[in-house]
Amino acid sequence: MIESLIAECAWGTDPYLIFSENVFSPLIYYSHLTPILVSLILGTYIFVANRRLLINKILFAITIILGIWLFLDLILWATDSIEMVMFAWSTVNMIEPFIYAGFVYLVTVFIINKDVSTRTKILISLPLLPGIFAATSQWNVAGFNLTNCDREVIEGPMTFYNYLIEIGYVCWIIGFGIWAWFSKTITTKKTQFIPLILVTLLLLLGFSFGNIVGSFSEDWALGQYGLFVIPISIGALSYLIIQFRLMAKSQIMVTQMLVIGLWIAVGSIFFIQNIRYVRWIVVLTLVFLGIIGYLLLKSFRVELEQRKQIEKLAKDLEGANKRLKELDQLKSEFLSVAAHQLRAPLTAIRGYTSLIEEGNFGATPDTMKEPLARIIDSARNMANSIEDYLDVSRIEQGRMKFESSKFDLTDLAQKVVDELGPVATRRKLTLSMQPAAEIFVTADIGKIKQVMTNLVDNAIKYTQAGSVTISVEKRDAVARLMVSDTGIGIPAEEIPNLFDKFTRARDANKVNTTGTGLGLYVARKLIEGHKGKVWVESDGTNKGSRFIFEIPAA
Ligand code: ADP
Repeated sequence: MIESLIAECAWGTDPYLIFSENVFSPLIYYSHLTPILVSLILGTYIFVANRRLLINKILFAITIILGIWLFLDLILWATDSIEMVMFAWSTVNMIEPFIYAGFVYLVTVFIINKDVSTRTKILISLPLLPGIFAATSQWNVAGFNLTNCDREVIEGPMTFYNYLIEIGYVCWIIGFGIWAWFSKTITTKKTQFIPLILVTLLLLLGFSFGNIVGSFSEDWALGQYGLFVIPISIGALSYLIIQFRLMAKSQIMVTQMLVIGLWIAVGSIFFIQNIRYVRWIVVLTLVFLGIIGYLLLKSFRVELEQRKQIEKLAKDLEGANKRLKELDQLKSEFLSVAAHQLRAPLTAIRGYTSLIEEGNFGATPDTMKEPLARIIDSARNMANSIEDYLDVSRIEQGRMKFESSKFDLTDLAQKVVDELGPVATRRKLTLSMQPAAEIFVTADIGKIKQVMTNLVDNAIKYTQAGSVTISVEKRDAVARLMVSDTGIGIPAEEIPNLFDKFTRARDANKVNTTGTGLGLYVARKLIEGHKGKVWVESDGTNKGSRFIFEIPAA
């Protein structure tokens, strides 16, 4: 009896699940395969781009369920196996509300920007339970309708329950959106979540269009046009989510995905046999093209604006740089002029105090000796500072010149020790030189002496008690000089910048208030000018220091 009824219907033969002659038009493939492809590609892409983000996971899960739904629905259009129709139809009915629930979850997480509470999760999933339990029962699909040859099932009351909860989920989305609109605690911007809600509602409407129209008008074919909304709205959703998370690189990828979607859309025209449907495909393709075009133009405009801004910044920077260079030049010139002007009166002070000390103006009373020694010391320090200033401006203006000659470094070091001996004695320090053989170097003798003087001078200044020792030695092709003291030492963290301009250690002021922080900078520049290097070693505060320089031996 049943077999004869089936035979009478003369359904197509040999259905390959989704390919058979039963399909009323290839439009079905277009309305199903396009959204499956587009949503799976976009969902997977977003998930892979950042799988730690909950919102990405939710979208991915929704696209998978949506994909399954669409695939099963496609089977319904093609198969003529009654068992298959029953199975696919009841599964489609069961999983459909999941898509709605998924969107409730997605919208809520997007708006509150964190996972929802367990209570809310239970509340979202509870209405799904009856559908799961009734999936295989009469309540879901009651039977198969053989009275006409439409391969249609007789739907049970679950179908209407589903419609009911789907309406509930949609109301939930709308209601939550309205609540968020007025809420003061929500930080997600309205301009972000309103488009998301609108797109979600559009997608759900497109999705249910088929069912609504089908259930009420029995014209299931008309509903297919609703499905065309899915790829577009999934694309828009992906874009909104990505934009929300500022995955700038991914924006380009979404555009690429849309382009792929466009290729698929255009490519599928090949498979359309009925020219009437081409019009619809052109409409869809135009929509695709519209979104892609809009996104591309927008990103192009943003890029153009950014480039303009960068260009403007570069120009400003260039101007500021030029001005800075001018100021730097002015500073060096001022330093040079001021130092020169200071030098002349200082030379007179130093000359006359020396003459007084030597008794050229009569015997110096004993009470005058100490103050006189202080004047001489201070004047010498000041002269050194002025020389440092002059050297800095010479170095910075590239005017520093080196005049090489061959000389004995050991001999030069001895001279410095002899010259500074009285300064050390005044401060009750022992200044000595370890015996050494001749070490010849070819260098600017004046500059090397200046560096030595500076290092020994510093060692005396920064040592309150103990000794300062100079040693020289030849190591392979380099001549090395070391000034070691038993002074205040240098903490390890201060060492790296000590040879920079105007750099003084934290404790320097306690011992010597007149320093400029230029001496070591000049010393480094002078030694580097000799292709040598200078550095300091210290075991820490109050543990003394060792200043060392090396220059090539002759
Ligand atoms: P100034 O002595 O004028 O401050 P320098 O450039 O000659 O400038 O020295 C820089 C800093 O290095 C000093 O301020 C001091 O903190 C530290 N320094 C230099 N020599 C010694 C030393 N022998 N012992 C301890 N600290 C020193």
